Amino acid sequence: MPSADGAAARPRGQAGAGQPAGPIGPAEQDALVEMLQALIRIPTVNPPGDEILAARYVDDLLRDEGLEPELLEPFPGRASIVARLRGAGGGGEPLLLLSHLDVVPAPAEGWRHDPFSGDVAGGFVWGRGAIDMKSTLATQLAVVRRLAAETRAAGRDPARDPVPGLRRDLVLAATADEEAGGFEGAGWIVDHRPELLQAAAALTEAGGIGLVFGGRRFYPIQVAERGFVVYRLTFRGTWGHGSVPRDDNAAVLAAEAVVRLTGPGAPRPTPVMERFIETVAAGLPPAAAAALRGAVDPDPTRSEAALAELCGEPYRRTLRAVLRDTISPDVIRAGVKYNVIPGTAEIEIDVRTLPGTDEAAMTAELRRRLGEALWERTSVEVTGRGAAVEAPTDSPLYRILEATLRDHDPAGVPVPVMAHFATDAKHLARIGVPTYGFSPLRLGPGDPYLELFHADDERVPLAGLRFGLSVLYDVVRRYCG
Ligand SMILES: [Zn+2]
Repeated sequence: MPSADGAAARPRGQAGAGQPAGPIGPAEQDALVEMLQALIRIPTVNPPGDEILAARYVDDLLRDEGLEPELLEPFPGRASIVARLRGAGGGGEPLLLLSHLDVVPAPAEGWRHDPFSGDVAGGFVWGRGAIDMKSTLATQLAVVRRLAAETRAAGRDPARDPVPGLRRDLVLAATADEEAGGFEGAGWIVDHRPELLQAAAALTEAGGIGLVFGGRRFYPIQVAERGFVVYRLTFRGTWGHGSVPRDDNAAVLAAEAVVRLTGPGAPRPTPVMERFIETVAAGLPPAAAAALRGAVDPDPTRSEAALAELCGEPYRRTLRAVLRDTISPDVIRAGVKYNVIPGTAEIEIDVRTLPGTDEAAMTAELRRRLGEALWERTSVEVTGRGAAVEAPTDSPLYRILEATLRDHDPAGVPVPVMAHFATDAKHLARIGVPTYGFSPLRLGPGDPYLELFHADDERVPLAGLRFGLSVLYDVVRRYCG
């Protein structure tokens, strides 16, 4: 529920009737922080999710602004919410602001602040979801509330009348289940109520974040994400007595397979990543630029050496991952008793694929790595899959994202990038909606970011949130206006 304090800080009180909106002020920035704290305090840990609690909070908040959101609960407790602000028409299909309500678990032992406290300390808001991605939802909500306030200030009804100055509609959707594939959230809406999410384009996590690297601030904007294929490999050996070891012990076969599958393959920069490397290299000192270009050396040994010279963890792992298909064996199952040689063993493998790599090519790569003798003892199942997605960089929206970041930070360098992980963009791609990872934030030098996803001490800097709100508001105004 919005608190009474939150109500006092609402943008409603800012714009007098008929007054043009001024720049985003401290009251709206404070309201954003209050919304983020409130959302963090609602523990929407998936599983089980319980997103209904956060969806009701958003529902109340938007109804207080005069909007009429639609709350969807296709499975008990698994709720998503969609709201629409109207444009006057003639501007094209809507812009969709997409976020997810769920978070991953947060065992409290390793945290300096309780993960569901929403504490403000040391210039940060702390808690699970502070980065992934309740801060983005709070920023999107702040933009929607501001536009609703401007609509009321013009004597109009935000639920029915156009927002002054907007031609396109703006849709906000906060969905369930993203952290488990989105099938009960964005995926369900795409299957059953696609009209709710139909849009010219969507903005979601996690791009437009100002990261300082080599003394320059870069803003990677996600325009692509890798696909995934989940494999289960079952190895067949011969059951027997542990006192008489066998070469075809299935546990040994599986262990050998894990070793052969592990290790980075050769890099394959996609056009998006080639542009990323050239743009970033152009902004770096010569030695760092050479190391970045060396990261795509076709020889894996040389590309690893270049990465080692370029940056520390976790950026090294991230760059390595977006430059190649990756294979991570994450589950091994074998054995029933210490003195029984197992006749079967299973491994599950998380494979991530670049745009342009299909499942057949990936299966062939697994076979190449295992070798024929081991492959013959293996049965292969695919238990999950999602295609890689890409959004255009020659689109009006992408140009607006770049231009708005430059206007707010003239020294910053926007650059397109591919995400190493999957988001709900995969579901939107099924109805033809291109998705950009754009959740603008500005980090201070040394502020952690990438290492906070799904990790202890997740937190977001207050100064970065303020920057992000102004950028996102301007993007919406420019693209929808
Ligand atoms: Zn997320």
